Amino acid sequence: MRVITTVEELRAARAEATGTVGLVPTMGALHSGHGTLIERARREVDTLITSVFLNPLQFTDLGDTDDYRNYPRDIEADSTFCEGLGVDIVFAPSVEEMYPGGIPQIWVRTGEMGTVLEGASRPGHFDGVATVVNKLFNLAKPDVAYFGQKDAQQVAVLRRMVRDLNHDVEIRTLPIARAADGLAQSSRNVRLSEAGRSQALALSRSLRTLQEQVDAGALDVDAVRAELAASEGVTLDYLVVVDPDTLQPTSEPGLALVAATVDGVRLIDNALLG
Ligand code: AMP
Repeated sequence: MRVITTVEELRAARAEATGTVGLVPTMGALHSGHGTLIERARREVDTLITSVFLNPLQFTDLGDTDDYRNYPRDIEADSTFCEGLGVDIVFAPSVEEMYPGGIPQIWVRTGEMGTVLEGASRPGHFDGVATVVNKLFNLAKPDVAYFGQKDAQQVAVLRRMVRDLNHDVEIRTLPIARAADGLAQSSRNVRLSEAGRSQALALSRSLRTLQEQVDAGALDVDAVRAELAASEGVTLDYLVVVDPDTLQPTSEPGLALVAATVDGVRLIDNALLG
């Protein structure tokens, strides 16, 4: 496995790659959720590139925020993790390498899909995501790129970007990896206290309740939302059911999305109902 940090090295490595190329973009602090993407990619492509880049553009105030500053960083551990899973190339550039002139002039603008839900609470977030993924696609030129259903809105936005900007890449989505207690794996979970972690279980519990309601033919999102909002330690942002492709509200059992802050940590989770 090679760890490379410059655009020039990545372009050279891509030029030498034979067969199919897969890309797993990450922000590092790798856990078993990332692991499921990498393992799947390893089985499906000839050359596997994992990027580890904490992209300031997708954080509030372009990274001038505690969420960005406190985000766990450990490139040594991430490299070891990738090596263990058979990654060929880890691309771990600095912020200066990715944005040599500082904040870029030219961004990908995501429109309405990027302004609802996560985008409403984190203005500019999806423009930052789409911009960096656009750059990574241009550099790694993957045949296949792997993303987690954990970030369902991100998947919808990026699928749309591929369509609207004619990227020659196939997007494959992997199911949410969860801890044994049901909590969706996230790099941010390490910032939860023990009490916060058990309070955070209310999110996945709500999604299970919604699924049970669908099974019983009596979906009542308002009731579940009210219960979650009253749950100790949980500051609820949203609990909604939307169409998985357009992200518009739906009365059908669609994609249930939840976001909340627990212990000062923003958490998201979701479930495809039905
Ligand atoms: P991140 O490092 O948080 O940007 O995540 C990198 C990729 O891993 C994204 O496509 C995420 O959706 C995916 N991912 C993160 N957590 C999980 C999880 N618990 N299950 C599945 N995929 C995940």
